[in-house]
Amino acid sequence: MSSSKRAKIVSMSKGKRQSVALALAGSAVLFTAAGAHYFEQSRLAASAEGFDGRRAFDDLRRLVALGPRPPDSPALDQARKYIAEQLGDAGVGVTYDAFAATTPVGQVGMRNIIGKLPGDRPEVVIIAGHYDTARLPGIRFVGANDGGSSAAELIELARVLARRRRSLTYWIVFFDGEEAMDHWSPTDSLYGSRHVVESMQRTGQLHEVRAVLLLDMVAGRDPHFGLESNSTPWLRDLLFSTARRLGYESAFPRRTPLPVEDDHLPFITSGVPAVDLIDFAPFLQGYHHTAQDTLDRCSPNTMEMVGRVVLVMLAELSRRS
Ligand SMILES: [Zn+2]
Repeated sequence: MSSSKRAKIVSMSKGKRQSVALALAGSAVLFTAAGAHYFEQSRLAASAEGFDGRRAFDDLRRLVALGPRPPDSPALDQARKYIAEQLGDAGVGVTYDAFAATTPVGQVGMRNIIGKLPGDRPEVVIIAGHYDTARLPGIRFVGANDGGSSAAELIELARVLARRRRSLTYWIVFFDGEEAMDHWSPTDSLYGSRHVVESMQRTGQLHEVRAVLLLDMVAGRDPHFGLESNSTPWLRDLLFSTARRLGYESAFPRRTPLPVEDDHLPFITSGVPAVDLIDFAPFLQGYHHTAQDTLDRCSPNTMEMVGRVVLVMLAELSRRS
């Protein structure tokens, strides 16, 4: 064996040792990445589980069956009774925030419903939506998606969250008087959310609120949850990244930024981070505030998808704060 050949063998075997070592290191990296991915997926699945879209849809059916539900109507009283019963059955403590709203059609009695779920810590995340439907003269407006879906979604979320160990405190808030009594304006709209923010400011509780997740029109069959541009950017990013992690990109396309005036605004103007999880499809498809906003436009699958997104967002907020 010549020295040069020996040198070649040594060199080859050294190279081989290096590649074996590299391969082992590579598989360790792969293994660690796979382990982290598996851990991430199982954590995601555990956070998202428990929301039953069919049960939420059944709540929606019950609310829509009451007919149009404008503020201060017997049908809205019935809706409130149904919501409170469901929350009570789930073991959620219910309080009412009653007030007389000054509106273009006179004083109107309104009532927000607040379900409180205490956590280990006093910081609050508010999950909210409206349960009134628009007063639209000449139209039998049952507001299946607009007003019905947010209320039904919140009922099922309350059931799931009531069963969970909670780090943060959750308030499930059903706003009355989101819709205008006559024509939409800063003073003729968002009565319930404005009243909650004023009350919480007065009592000092607003400082405890870390985030507001507002749900509006969350049951449409073919949803297009859009980039609502009044929402707090980091919270809106969390919404869209969560939807992507759960595989719902097609229902949450990152396009069509549009500002929407909704119940998140009184919080945002008071410095509380808030995001509006809202479907643009009713506007794009032209059935928003028409007699066509009916149950057949809605789907339990969409309700379940939104429920899972919200549950994962809440888990993420608990980890972050
Ligand atoms: Zn509306």
